[in-house]
Amino acid sequence: MGPGWTSCTDDDRGMSDSFLKVSCVLYNMSVDLHTHTEASFDSDCTMAQRVALADDAGITTIACTDHNAVHPRLDDRTQMIDGIEVIAGVELFTRGQYGRIDVLGLMIDPAMMRKQVPAEGREKIAYREAIDRIHDAGGVAIMAHPGRYDTDLEAAVQHLLEHGVDGIETAYPYEFVSDPMPYTPHERIVRIAQEYDLLETGGSDCHGTRRQHIGAIRLDEAVLRKLRQRAAMG
Ligand SMILES: [Zn+2]
Repeated sequence: MGPGWTSCTDDDRGMSDSFLKVSCVLYNMSVDLHTHTEASFDSDCTMAQRVALADDAGITTIACTDHNAVHPRLDDRTQMIDGIEVIAGVELFTRGQYGRIDVLGLMIDPAMMRKQVPAEGREKIAYREAIDRIHDAGGVAIMAHPGRYDTDLEAAVQHLLEHGVDGIETAYPYEFVSDPMPYTPHERIVRIAQEYDLLETGGSDCHGTRRQHIGAIRLDEAVLRKLRQRAAMG
């Protein structure tokens, strides 16, 4: 298991089942840092539906990361919507010498990021441009789904690091996307993350009625703590 994966049992050996259940409910957050809504060109899920689906799946915190768009209901870097903590995010399409790479911006200032997103939903901007725009909006820049790129991942990571990328999405449900993936095995992705001291995040990338699998990735509060620290460092 990578850092941040949920386990309800490690610290609770010897406790009664009922106590264990209550302690998990009270203290265990379940976090998904990559979800889409109808603000993305390829999703049909409203924010109300997104948070309701998260709630049904036992997810307590989501990041809303729409393609080249910041959802209109987001007005703070984190906020509560219908009982779910929603972290403001974005997913920018980028291109460069390693091909298309998607870059997540997490914990962005929504108003600042709206001024920075490309006007066109599928427009690709340069890697550095995307990372700079996310940082300008106070966010943390994460290489999304590293196993989806048919390229030399380590070289691509080194390249993005030169441009200031903060982290990499090490937890991702490749089994739910259709391409032949992952190109790079999970163990190697985690090794690269650790070797380059990258912030590790994860998310379901669920879109709506298409690719609806929220709950496939559940991170614990440690990942949020690190994300907040990184965002505060600016
Ligand atoms: Zn996505």
